[in-house]
Amino acid sequence: MGEAWSGSQIKQHLTELADVIGPRWGGSAEDLRAAAYIRDQMEAAGVDRAEVEPFTLETWNHGDVSISLPDDNNRPIAALPFLRCKAIDLTTPLVDAGHASPHEVEALGGRIEGSVVLATIGPEPFTAPEPFTARIVRLAAAGAACIIAIEPKTGGRMEYANSDEWLNVGPQKNAIAVVKTSSEDGAYLRRIAGGSPRVHVSVDAEYFNTEAHNTVAEITGSTHPERHLILAGHHDTVLKTPGGNDNTSGTIGVMETARVMAALVKEMGVRPGMSIRFATWSGEEQHLQGARSYVARHYSEGSASREEKPLLNINLDELSTGHMKGIVLAFPHLRQFMQSQLDTMDDGLKCHVLSHMDAHSDHFPFVEEAIEASITWRWRFWGRHEDAKFHHEVGDAANKLNVRELKEYAGQLARLLLRLSHVAPEDWPQNPLTISDVNQMIERDSGGHHPAFH
Ligand SMILES: [Zn+2]
Repeated sequence: MGEAWSGSQIKQHLTELADVIGPRWGGSAEDLRAAAYIRDQMEAAGVDRAEVEPFTLETWNHGDVSISLPDDNNRPIAALPFLRCKAIDLTTPLVDAGHASPHEVEALGGRIEGSVVLATIGPEPFTAPEPFTARIVRLAAAGAACIIAIEPKTGGRMEYANSDEWLNVGPQKNAIAVVKTSSEDGAYLRRIAGGSPRVHVSVDAEYFNTEAHNTVAEITGSTHPERHLILAGHHDTVLKTPGGNDNTSGTIGVMETARVMAALVKEMGVRPGMSIRFATWSGEEQHLQGARSYVARHYSEGSASREEKPLLNINLDELSTGHMKGIVLAFPHLRQFMQSQLDTMDDGLKCHVLSHMDAHSDHFPFVEEAIEASITWRWRFWGRHEDAKFHHEVGDAANKLNVRELKEYAGQLARLLLRLSHVAPEDWPQNPLTISDVNQMIERDSGGHHPAFH
């Protein structure tokens, strides 16, 4: 804990990643620069190996995007494409579908066909919350030509959002175009929509494949070097944001935990029992492609470079949303074991288990492979910082990273990993799940609302 505090390199890493390199969209030159920096810093910290691992990323980028009203002096309307929105250029009547709930879409009947449809991202109040992705599917089925989605944040702010269901494997292409407008301009469109004005929507965008880069470092275990645990988080960001919280915080969490554990080896001769692997992923914001490619290459049946699966993956994402409150497991078999380990730390940390499949971060590709994976409990369901509201927008800058809490994370994670690594693999509770069990759980939850996102 002392090394995490007094030897902290958080400030240096934060400046380099969030200010000097800045936005790090997966597959971009900045993403590669970040990966090289992380590898070099891991090496300097004294881990036993550190490397960059390339993979092919199915990526996308956009140019100019606009919404305007040809019959209203081309009044400009704020516009931001949903991630992976296809290119479009059309002028058609505007139809207001409210929240795009079943009864609202039904009431509009044939008017949706071929129209630009205006819809609120938030679900309809006083009903069971339905994800916006499900309402997009409903509007597409009704024949909408394009959707203008109204941002819930006010003050002209807009965050990049996704239009597809993340429990599906792989990123979608060429689905219905969804373009976001601001809360204020959305309200304006809603006021004039009764007159069925023509609206012009244009998105310049393209899909292409490129090389992106994960980083992997390792401290070799003393008693069971052939088995490993993984601590990881994504180093990529969405476009145009330095990602102070999402996810420079988690990236530095991985780097600092590795540094503290490497210092423990160097200065005290204390090694983990099993090996500890420290990874940072690219392509998280593009459907978890970095972590998914790593899992496919290293742990999947049929892979030429297959290794024994890790006993646990701990995923760090948006750590500056709140201080560490515990560990949230995807599967229940380690619950008692994990709580007893946390209890030995005497920091009041709690272990919980998700009651649903949560595909919204890099633990999920591990879950798909039936590997026990977890997230740190930092905001569900109390203690969420106001600063975390700058998610996926330019305001998620370096000042959104909470330095003091991140020092605590690094110390606590190092302590937890050290303890876990010294429990012999055969003494861990057996994981009873198969990949087909997990597929059934994914099927069960697909298309549903994720209670963790209240
Ligand atoms: Zn993230």
